[in-house]
Amino acid sequence: MKGLVAANLKMNLTGQQTLSLVKNYTKLIKKTRNDVVVCPSYTALHLVAPVIKKSKLHLGAQDIFYEQKGAFTGEISGALLKEFGCKFSIIGHSERRNYLKESDELVNLKVKGCLKAGITPILCVGEDAYSRDGGESFSFVEKQLRACIAGVEKKNIHKVAIAYEPIWALSTSANRRDITSREITQMHNYIRKILKDIYDVRTAAGVRILYGGSVNDQNIDEILKAENVNGVLVGAASLDAKKFARIIAAFDARKQ
Ligand code: PEP
Repeated sequence: MKGLVAANLKMNLTGQQTLSLVKNYTKLIKKTRNDVVVCPSYTALHLVAPVIKKSKLHLGAQDIFYEQKGAFTGEISGALLKEFGCKFSIIGHSERRNYLKESDELVNLKVKGCLKAGITPILCVGEDAYSRDGGESFSFVEKQLRACIAGVEKKNIHKVAIAYEPIWALSTSANRRDITSREITQMHNYIRKILKDIYDVRTAAGVRILYGGSVNDQNIDEILKAENVNGVLVGAASLDAKKFARIIAAFDARKQ
């Protein structure tokens, strides 16, 4: 299975800053055997799309609306994003769940909206510090995951990438803590088991499970020691082209 490394640029850069970052990516990332995806702000898509088209990188969005067309003021559909060549979209990021109050039900509609539009959803799940400390991380993630992929057919689930992003390990978390590769293994194995329960062993094995939470060029080797890590979602470190390129190189170098 091809790995997936995605850069979540969040709302950090202007169009010109994004363009300059992506140009640096393309200089540093000349080849990769994995899918490398850049998710800029919507307003930068038209600037970076032509640069990405000529490179090894793929374009992604940070969110989509679930309908394809119609009277939905302010929203952007998968169909519109495809005009720019977007092939991926982050869905259900914890920041959207927190600030925009996105529910599992809405996230589920968005996952299905992505599939309908032919866009790969990078579905984010992950518990907060409160659930982790209360020993409820597994039940929290299971509830979230089951709700967010409800109704996704067996023949389509391999088109969904699942990103485990524990909120307490994100670089922006107020009381951030480091996660261990053992903790990543435990959750990724658990996610694989849930997929197996819902679908079957073979189908579950075909789904990419990503880790996200303060991944950088210093800790990537440690993170890749964990089991069932088929990719990483990178926030802060992706704002530095050299760091992001080193993460991709480490990922490319790992034994499959
Ligand atoms: C994220 O918020 O999706 C993320 C991975 O952020 P960071 O790498 O900065 O923790």
